Amino acid sequence: MHLFEVAPAAAGWALVLHGGAGGRVDELTLDARGSYVEGLTRAYKAGADVLAAGGAALDAVCAAVEQLEDDPLFNAGRGAALTSAGTAELDACVMTGDGRAGAISACRHARNPVFAARKVMEETPAVLLVAPDLERLSGWGLETVEPGYFVTPARQQQLQNVQDRLLEPSRHGTVGAVALDLGGRVAAATSTGGMVNQSEGRVGDTPIVGAGTYARDGVVAISCTGEGEAFIKGVVAHDIAARMRYLGTPLAAAVEATVAEELTAHEAIGGLIAVGADGRVVVAHNSPAMFAAYSDGTRLVTRT
Ligand code: ASP
Repeated sequence: MHLFEVAPAAAGWALVLHGGAGGRVDELTLDARGSYVEGLTRAYKAGADVLAAGGAALDAVCAAVEQLEDDPLFNAGRGAALTSAGTAELDACVMTGDGRAGAISACRHARNPVFAARKVMEETPAVLLVAPDLERLSGWGLETVEPGYFVTPARQQQLQNVQDRLLEPSRHGTVGAVALDLGGRVAAATSTGGMVNQSEGRVGDTPIVGAGTYARDGVVAISCTGEGEAFIKGVVAHDIAARMRYLGTPLAAAVEATVAEELTAHEAIGGLIAVGADGRVVVAHNSPAMFAAYSDGTRLVTRT
């Protein structure tokens, strides 16, 4: 397992993003790698600007995820991985450390699924809404699109290759962000098209509170990526928070134990990002690679 930890920054806020966990990225050209780094950098800057100006962790994670959803390279929003039927079914979740949460699943019309998840949290008594229709989304003032907007030729080719068994389904690309703001509040957001070639209607861990996304003030905020079923069964994000709360386990050790027991032990592949209540940042994965961006205290680090 790979684990990177950064001590709390003097600035008093913290932000870390992921762009999915998956196989080796050696096969990516230098140009492609550069484009992922550009996308992560742009998204990090969008979130960091919010936090540095004293904004809320929730606004920061939404701003960062919006950028990654709009970037067709990542498996979220436009350019999301396609189902076996060639459709894009988008899942997203947001959670704030005070215990509020909202999520959407199989969303086909919100240009930015992360904002739809936020609306579920802020405008409805529900936590998880399936396939919100155009009327509801525009009633919330969200930008709407036709489902074809999300489908790119690159993803159609990827689906074809996976269906022809020319390619292992790559899991890179799901996106997430976690943040601690100057007010000491944490938040998490995750957004995905799911797994390439998944059956229509399959729901992964991303929109499941406690599985792929979780935040609790005074403890931690977490966003996960990888084989969703294992994250759901291991309730991975909540398991880490529970180790910290009930056992007093430090963040990195809690992450290490949960990844070992709930993922590696079940031969499941994935990774996660976390920010502790003190601003400590952890990036961890048992996959060969994971895309991530965070500050090491002096400069932005991007991992591909
Ligand atoms: N966790 C996502 C899912 O299972 C996929 C991913 O992170 O790549 O839907």
